Amino acid sequence: MDCIFCKIRDREIAKEFTYEDEDVMVFPDIHPLKPTHLLIVPKIHVEDFAELNDVALMTKIKKVINTMIAEKMGDSGYRISINGGGAQVVRHVHFHLMGPVSQTE
Ligand code: AMP
Ligand code: ZN
Repeated sequence: MDCIFCKIRDREIAKEFTYEDEDVMVFPDIHPLKPTHLLIVPKIHVEDFAELNDVALMTKIKKVINTMIAEKMGDSGYRISINGGGAQVVRHVHFHLMGPVSQTE
């Protein structure tokens, strides 16, 4: 399987992690759309958000996102986005967390 995020997980591609535990990794998007643009990625290879049905893993991802919001977003607005159903370029589910974002964007 030729998956860039699995290669990052396995250290075949060097990447400095913003956060890592046994289930989740976080690193900056290589083409940031906002000054802070992080990718929150489960380590297990699940292709599409619709297939991510492990409630314990989802809970963990939520906690990691909360931590990233608290530590990286300060008091500014943020956006979380998920591309799926074929809209994603990288077919390994991931959550974009980006900011600052204002109400009018
Ligand atoms: P999408 O699959 O459409 O949600 O987008 C995939 C995202 O992964 C894009 O925002 C890319 O800039 C980002 N990306 C692709 N390769 C890397 C990489 N090696 N390191 C960090 N981000 C990446
Ligand atoms: Zn993968």
